[in-house]
Amino acid sequence: MTPPARFVPMPFSPDAPASAGRAYASLSPAVWRGSTVVFDSLDDFAARKHRQPDGYSYGVTGTPTARLLEDRIAALEHGRHCVIAPSGAAALMTAVLAYVRAGDHLLLSAACYGSLAALADKWLAALGVAVEYYAPTIGADIESLIRPNTRMICLESPGSLTMEMCDVPAIAAAARRHGVLTMMDNTWASPLGFRPLDHGVDFSVEAATKFFSGHSDVLMGSIATNDAGHYAVLRDAQSTLGQQVSPDDCFLVLRGLETLALRLQAQGESTLRIAGWLAQHPLVERVWYPPLPSDPGHALWQRDFHGKGCLFSLQLAAAETPAYRAFFGALKQFPIGASWGGVHSLAAFYPAELQRARQYPATDRPLVRLSIGLEDSGLLQADLQAALAAYGAARG
Ligand SMILES: *Cc1c(COP(=O)(O)O)cnc(C)c1O
Repeated sequence: MTPPARFVPMPFSPDAPASAGRAYASLSPAVWRGSTVVFDSLDDFAARKHRQPDGYSYGVTGTPTARLLEDRIAALEHGRHCVIAPSGAAALMTAVLAYVRAGDHLLLSAACYGSLAALADKWLAALGVAVEYYAPTIGADIESLIRPNTRMICLESPGSLTMEMCDVPAIAAAARRHGVLTMMDNTWASPLGFRPLDHGVDFSVEAATKFFSGHSDVLMGSIATNDAGHYAVLRDAQSTLGQQVSPDDCFLVLRGLETLALRLQAQGESTLRIAGWLAQHPLVERVWYPPLPSDPGHALWQRDFHGKGCLFSLQLAAAETPAYRAFFGALKQFPIGASWGGVHSLAAFYPAELQRARQYPATDRPLVRLSIGLEDSGLLQADLQAALAAYGAARG
């Protein structure tokens, strides 16, 4: 009888990665896999924690592939530092949990991303944080809401779904006067359209899932900052919460960033054309899209922003659910799905209850949200025209 084969692990070769690096140069970044960092000596091992926040101590604090991506995002954001997380929601959560503690007061835009509101309502409030929502258009009046225990103000501009524009510099300035931290979800514009750190915000958060990756094939988030102390706090929170990212996912986002500017430009032009056309359609009551002069936030967008984004929302002429079913059923170029910012257009539906459930709602009606991809804009427009015709017919 032959003995069972003995498993022989790969021999450890400390020089292998470095020698491969010298021998093989590539335009594409290396994907460094590994949970474990190994050290040359006992002293090196004992000192590993002192290498943080930038050094490597264990996989959870990052790999060279993650650091490369963090450096690229920091540069885009005009920031000195960046920490990535496994999703946009994880990045928002990490930024808040890094600083907010029981007894603190947290101010959130009423138009903030759903998972941030859920974190605040379901977790932070139960953990002793005073959670308060402000009207996204509050501007400098935010000062009247700041309390001695206010720790952080969370902004998102334009806001999720109804695209309210915040006066970011005014809110950031008021926060600074009172020693309050500011965190902004900047996913809609991306740093090529708006740079929160340049406007006095402490933390710029992006859902890299959207524009950065651009191909709907990966989830990721990032937090950029200019302050070395904040960076150390964020790195510590990221590793304590176990929020590390696969180097393969980092590779995908690094590749996405190579075409970010071109995609943004092309999708933005197409979005402006389509949103402008929709705004004239008799079955469209409102279009929320700050680059359109008719949008209530247009002046702030024009003052502060450079990019047009690719995401906007519509309020259609009043109708019952079957009409919405007909609209979505007629779409051929817009798959129905959440998320946005990829090369494929997408359509999503948000029922009226969602608006009624939040504070300071911009409407109490259902919304259709469209993300415009890289398809031919004439084709997309014809598709929307057919869907609106189906909507009109089902509306009776
Ligand atoms: C999608 C999105 C997020 C969350 O990103 P995920 O990677 O899907 O978790 C956060 N903020 C905004 C504005 C988003 O659109």
